[in-house]
Amino acid sequence: MLTILTQEFGGTLIRIEPSSQENFISPDLFAVHYKVLNDITFSNTFSSSSLSIILMKKILFALIISWSSVSFGQSLKTENVILITLDGMRWQEIFNGGDSSLMRQQVYLKDEKLREKFWRDDATERRKALLPFFWNTLAVKGQLYGNRALGCKVNVTNNQWFSYPGYSEILTGHADDDRINSNDKLYNPNGTVLEFINQQAAFKGKVAAFSSWDVFPYIINDKRSGVVVNGGLVEAKGDKLTEKEKTLNQIMTNIPNPITGVRLDAFTFYYGLEYMKKNKPRVMYFAFDETDDFAHQGEYAAYLNAANYTDRFIGELWNYLQTDPVYKNKTTMILTCDHGRGVNAQEWRHHGKKIAEADQIWMAVIGPDTPAKGEVKGECQYYQNQVAKTMASFLGLNYQADKKVGDEVLSMMGK
Ligand SMILES: [Zn+2]
Repeated sequence: MLTILTQEFGGTLIRIEPSSQENFISPDLFAVHYKVLNDITFSNTFSSSSLSIILMKKILFALIISWSSVSFGQSLKTENVILITLDGMRWQEIFNGGDSSLMRQQVYLKDEKLREKFWRDDATERRKALLPFFWNTLAVKGQLYGNRALGCKVNVTNNQWFSYPGYSEILTGHADDDRINSNDKLYNPNGTVLEFINQQAAFKGKVAAFSSWDVFPYIINDKRSGVVVNGGLVEAKGDKLTEKEKTLNQIMTNIPNPITGVRLDAFTFYYGLEYMKKNKPRVMYFAFDETDDFAHQGEYAAYLNAANYTDRFIGELWNYLQTDPVYKNKTTMILTCDHGRGVNAQEWRHHGKKIAEADQIWMAVIGPDTPAKGEVKGECQYYQNQVAKTMASFLGLNYQADKKVGDEVLSMMGK
């Protein structure tokens, strides 16, 4: 993927000074509360009347702070959140299935069997054939945002329209076009919502990310954040490996890897699932990649096929969540993508700021607090920068950063 984007964007590179990595200070609101109470205890230099006013003000302030940090906590059932991204997966295929004009072109659809597998004359049937979990489960029990034919729009706010800026916007809750403008392996100077959640006592050591792309350790800044990041062509590690992890390690290291810098999504998924069964993280991120790789190669059938088996992974994950008491009926899944792609026969393969409409994306959600609305209809506009705060809000946390972050999507929580 790195090679491809180097071609697309001429290898634009902005170096981030190491010192700027230390600028992120996450607001630990419980610590603020604790400090205020300490101040009250040790305020002994005032007269009793002025002291009581100061005490009242401080107690009020402390109450406001603690109330705002758990603004959604009391009323929601969600205790765990899973974020899933499909790299460069267009909203067009999510909502319409295989594109008829692209499927007709032999150059893009070399595998005749896949044409049969994914083609249906009716668009509703076609999208079900492509993404059965999305349309038989997510659309029945959850919500899907971004069908522009119905008026619901989702866009990125960064002006780059490729992967690192997209993932950074999803995870930090804001764009940073001055500093996040290449796919190079540079540690993200911005804190992410994963890092913020991992700093909360109840979630410490319970936040993990499994990605196919090997740039994620940098995007999430695993060095600084303390978040477990298993990204790229790496094996399961540790001295208590399960039989499945040992087998996955054996297979992955003994087969050719077709995409430079990217682990095949099946390995990412099964490594991640095994990690969940073993460690029960409260926040888990799966970042899948192959949809983007096959699209860049101009292999439309392989792009569709990648979307189809990623949908199967997500369905398998959902079924697992319903069988484990740690997750059952208290876990929300949020799905989205890092960027869109071009719209016509020449440009669908590509993305980036020179490709019209590559800033258009989609989002989906399913979980115990999400009203079953299916496709969201009517005029609306949402942004990629809203994912981070939404994830935190589901857990009763008020995510803030040193830059303004996008608001939570209240309708996902039935608000
Ligand atoms: Zn790409």
